Amino acid sequence: MSDISQTIIGFDLWYLSLPVVGARDHGIGRVDGACEIIVLRLMSESGETGWGEASPWVVFTGSPEASFFALDRYIRPHVLGRRVADRETIMRDADRAVAHCSEAKAALDTALHDLAGRISGQPVHALLGGKCRDSIALSVSLANPDFAQDRALLDRLRADGVRIVKLKTGFRDHAFDLMRLEALAQEYPEFSVRVDFNQGLAPEDALDRVRDVAQFKPDFIEQPVRAPLYDLMAEIRQSVDVPLLADESVFGPEDMARAVRDGICDGVSVKVMKSGSFARAKAVAAMAAANGLGAYGGDMFESGLAHLAGAHLIASTPSIDLGCEFYQAKYYLAEDILETPFPCEGGRVQIPDGPGLGIRPDLDKLEHYSLSKGLAA
Ligand code: MG
Repeated sequence: MSDISQTIIGFDLWYLSLPVVGARDHGIGRVDGACEIIVLRLMSESGETGWGEASPWVVFTGSPEASFFALDRYIRPHVLGRRVADRETIMRDADRAVAHCSEAKAALDTALHDLAGRISGQPVHALLGGKCRDSIALSVSLANPDFAQDRALLDRLRADGVRIVKLKTGFRDHAFDLMRLEALAQEYPEFSVRVDFNQGLAPEDALDRVRDVAQFKPDFIEQPVRAPLYDLMAEIRQSVDVPLLADESVFGPEDMARAVRDGICDGVSVKVMKSGSFARAKAVAAMAAANGLGAYGGDMFESGLAHLAGAHLIASTPSIDLGCEFYQAKYYLAEDILETPFPCEGGRVQIPDGPGLGIRPDLDKLEHYSLSKGLAA
């Protein structure tokens, strides 16, 4: 059977712990040792498979345990036995079955698109409206508490042709942030620099610290304060002449509407993991564009599988035009889980044109890094 009217007969999960190459500090938390993700495999009657990833971060979106059980216990019954073609109603039912858990729903939506694309011979970007770009500029984040190690990474990035970096700030003292910004300006002038506080600043000194950082004229400054502090975001935006981006403050279209209304940002980080589906991520990007705001493709601590979902989203969404940060697979995981490397050359992510997402996970790697599996696996 080669049509999408066939039913879904397989729903398998892997809970993975993926070793990483070093520590990373962000405003709201640290990652060290390994990151944990959930991989979902759907199978149709013909034996075709579709893959998706949930990549939560506990201090940002939620826990991997919540993603695993959302899929395993609450979403699975709404998927098995349904037609591949019924993606919209499957997603509606999953949304009603379990609140929040946007990463679990992102995994499901990704896998449904991958499966439909594999069966119909179309890339996911074609299912999402068509490809508007063949590659995406890559931004790599600098978040190592040991700046000497980030200097080594910068040298590697320079050699690889990467020309955008995002400095993670606000996790240590102000002088450390300014020292690194000065070093970037003096020693790495070929890089465009972005700054992301990941909510790390205390309300009382946020404005002063952001003003100091703005002196370095980064491309933008992202999420200096806690997500719910919309009034303070708006005040900071009014007080500095560098664009202010919202990340943690905007998960889905509902947040974007309020962000626009309250004037908290000049742009937004769009992530499938935050919005919970391609359609909702596209809605965020469309709302941003309609209000003259910028958008770029953010990521979580994720593997190449989630990068692929993000790459197809951006490939099919003209208004997400500030690049992407899908660097983990190549620059942060000790080993990625895809069968072939996530396509990233010369500082740009290349958009796969094969059916579905274009690359599948390697089953041996899934087994190797798996902590536990779903009930039906
Ligand atoms: Mg961010």
